Amino acid sequence: MLNSTYPYTLPPLGYDYDAFEPYIDTETMHYHHDKHFQTYINNLNKALEPHPALQKLTLKQLLTGRYPLSPSDKTAILNNGGGVYNHSLFFDGLSPALSGSHSPEGRLLALINSGYGSFEEFKNQFNLQAASVFGSGWTALAIDTQKRLRIVNLKNQDTALQQNLGILILVDVWEHAYYLKYKNLRAEYLEAIWNVLSFPVL
Ligand code: MN
Repeated sequence: MLNSTYPYTLPPLGYDYDAFEPYIDTETMHYHHDKHFQTYINNLNKALEPHPALQKLTLKQLLTGRYPLSPSDKTAILNNGGGVYNHSLFFDGLSPALSGSHSPEGRLLALINSGYGSFEEFKNQFNLQAASVFGSGWTALAIDTQKRLRIVNLKNQDTALQQNLGILILVDVWEHAYYLKYKNLRAEYLEAIWNVLSFPVL
């Protein structure tokens, strides 16, 4: 997705909409992917429509580059471009309960153990931080340029790219990610999501 250019199109899911039952319900997957993600795609295209020069830039260049633009046009591109990038990472980072690895292994496990004591303690700290996101945003397990792990919160559709961090795990804590099933109980969604997050191999 980062190397894509205008016009952007919605990437299909790599699994079925009901692949994450009972942890993420089928209706939420439809709304989240087909409506919310699609809206970020549409609005990014709309924001780029009047700017032919920017249409040649990749999504990565749009999110990190410097280019002359009015503040409101730039905000529309960063908000919607961030939404496109974050959602592509989020949906790519899920894998059905019976496939993929739902716990860290190898080098990533060693880094988690040395940074947080254990995988269980890491999950506790991650969930506490995700519970503390005020309003809309994301929580990520990120790796910095010195290969250190960090749990970071991202407001609205800010991206880790803008902090020069690589994303290992990304959890959407906007209400649209969980409200149909979990209502106001974000903590229950955060407990459940570990069953479907897949861990990269470092
Ligand atoms: Mn979302």
